[in-house]
Amino acid sequence: MQKTDKPSTSGYKLKLKYQYLVAPLTLATTLILGSNLPAAALKINLTYGASVTEEQKEAAELAALIWEHYITDDITVNIHMDMSELRWGKMGTAIPNLRNNINYDQFRIAAEEEAKLAGQNTYFLPTAINPEYSLASGYKAIYKDVNRTTLEANYSEMLITSANAKALGFNFDSRSVLHGYIQLNSRYNWSYKYAQGTVDKNKFDFTSVVIHEIGHNLGFISGIDSIVGDAKPSTLDMFRCSDYSAKLGTIDFSVDSHRRYFSIDGCQTVFNLTETEQTTNKKGNIIDQTMTYEALFARGLNTRLGGDGVQASHWTDQNPDTGIMNPLLSTNTIRRITGVDLTAMDYIGYDVDLKKYYKTDDNGDYILDSKGNKIVKQLDLASLQSQAVKQAGGDNYRPEYSPDGDNGNETEVETFMYESGIYYSWWGGGEECDPSDPDYPDCTFW
Ligand SMILES: [Zn+2]
Repeated sequence: MQKTDKPSTSGYKLKLKYQYLVAPLTLATTLILGSNLPAAALKINLTYGASVTEEQKEAAELAALIWEHYITDDITVNIHMDMSELRWGKMGTAIPNLRNNINYDQFRIAAEEEAKLAGQNTYFLPTAINPEYSLASGYKAIYKDVNRTTLEANYSEMLITSANAKALGFNFDSRSVLHGYIQLNSRYNWSYKYAQGTVDKNKFDFTSVVIHEIGHNLGFISGIDSIVGDAKPSTLDMFRCSDYSAKLGTIDFSVDSHRRYFSIDGCQTVFNLTETEQTTNKKGNIIDQTMTYEALFARGLNTRLGGDGVQASHWTDQNPDTGIMNPLLSTNTIRRITGVDLTAMDYIGYDVDLKKYYKTDDNGDYILDSKGNKIVKQLDLASLQSQAVKQAGGDNYRPEYSPDGDNGNETEVETFMYESGIYYSWWGGGEECDPSDPDYPDCTFW
């Protein structure tokens, strides 16, 4: 995530078919969901480097608890966190444990199964028909060659974070116990009052940035942001479209000045969502604030090619903010996870409980406002905060996880960065990206 006032700043010829993948929810599934099994839950296990203060740990634990509240996959995600002197303009970075060579068909099968269990009967994934076997295999995407010519190509592999793979229930071998690493910039003045709903004057809200960086580690990334050269489209990129790609029936993995959008219907429409937030005014009256979000993606750092100057692994910066995965943050601003963020997480393979996000009645049916929109439920931040304080006091200091934290021994973060095949192949293997170096070049960090 970047600071607002200083924004710092790959294709198929066969006709792609967006397969209709999922059958309606079956009775058997309903019975399973309605049984008295213990509720499944996500656990985000945060560990910390030496320079993270107690106050920062509490603010970070709150961020983890907020994701845990909405996502119900029964998995544990281990994320290590440091305070580091990052470049000015960068609030924080995420370095997910990831792979660039995950078999797409394996992903598709797992994602379809996940969608079926969630009762999503309109779940589209870009699937190409293999000409040799006439079978659905791999997918197609638009990319651009060095001459900026738009081409299509078949892909059989994709980019995925280890947390995302775990949510989908498929194997992701790693020698590291970590699913990701986040750093927040120690150069900035931070505020730690998310639970109170306020921000200290002219400071940045710490918890908002940690929620955002955890979001990247969970899987909100685009292969477009890798400048190593051959990053494949990510799980999120499977829903990345342009008006041009919609005509071809492909996803769009290129950078230019035309809009890029998140679509859950095979690029036919831009995903958009209207929801109502209720706030209490000074007189104590509840005010309905209805927001419509249009899920446009950021177009990439390369403005020369038509990018909008921010990493493609975000929503584009627009008003209102689409959600927590907006690329920019201003001082005095708190940002929350929106229904659009949660929909994206849902479609890349997480189990998202929207009934924890929207108000429901005693029967579990959504309560609607006078215009028929779902109403966002306010989080019980006071209770989450007291839980965060407890968790922050635990045994969570792990120096051997931080890069260069273990005096020459390979640390957990370094292990997965090497394994990824992406972080350490800068310019063909010459220069390395070093997250502990404040002057490191722009490696693939989100
Ligand atoms: Zn970001």
